[in-house]
Amino acid sequence: MRKDPKTLNSFLRIKQITRGVFDLIYPRLCVFCRSKLYTSHDYNICAVCAAEIKPIKVPFCLKCGTSLDQISQIRYNGCGKCANKQYYFDQVLSACKYKGMLKHCIHLFKYKRKRKTKNILSDILIRFLQANFCPENIDLITAVPLHRHKLRERGFNQSELIAAKISSFFKIENSFNNLCRIKKTVSQVTLTAKQRQLNTTGAFSCKQPGEFKNKRILLVDDIFTTGSTLNECARVLKQSGAKKVTCLTIAR
Ligand SMILES: [Zn+2]
Ligand SMILES: [Zn+2]
Repeated sequence: MRKDPKTLNSFLRIKQITRGVFDLIYPRLCVFCRSKLYTSHDYNICAVCAAEIKPIKVPFCLKCGTSLDQISQIRYNGCGKCANKQYYFDQVLSACKYKGMLKHCIHLFKYKRKRKTKNILSDILIRFLQANFCPENIDLITAVPLHRHKLRERGFNQSELIAAKISSFFKIENSFNNLCRIKKTVSQVTLTAKQRQLNTTGAFSCKQPGEFKNKRILLVDDIFTTGSTLNECARVLKQSGAKKVTCLTIAR
């Protein structure tokens, strides 16, 4: 049954009041600094902590997403860091720098299972896309997959949860079981760029290549480091016939 706008408005008002009263009795805490939140905060984050999350602003490289000092540094063949590199993906977009509160937020989500931080992170990406990209240019959203053993251990794929939020916000079709990780890779944290590349080579595969054929794909991951994981995923997507692969990461 569809609610008429008047009923919906009063429903939302009642919900707001109930929440306000409840917050007074049991104040919610900021997920980062544990300070009390008396006013209505959608994501359980205080204003001080929210201000510490700094988005990457234009100008940034149109190929690898590195933030640039001046707009005149934008070139079609990439910036000083990527101009000589060949990637399978067409572009990388990263919303924030991987430091401070944002780094803490990703850790809370990934390793401490603080699921509420998912909304903060997906909201950052949605706003970033609205400001810097045209979501109409995407046909399908997918995410960097975890190996099934890792998925069983963690219980969820952080990139997939975020990608699903973006998919439902922009009403773009998603695909999460097609691209899969077939090689159990070691943690990349201490590896060099060359070792990372070797570690990810042949790590991904696609069950039904037809689903990606001629599609403009948005590939979501949490962090961009050297780009080897995204590049290997993009290689598989391109091999499956994808027309364009744009990578989106929360941080870099
Ligand atoms: Zn706080
Ligand atoms: Zn670049």
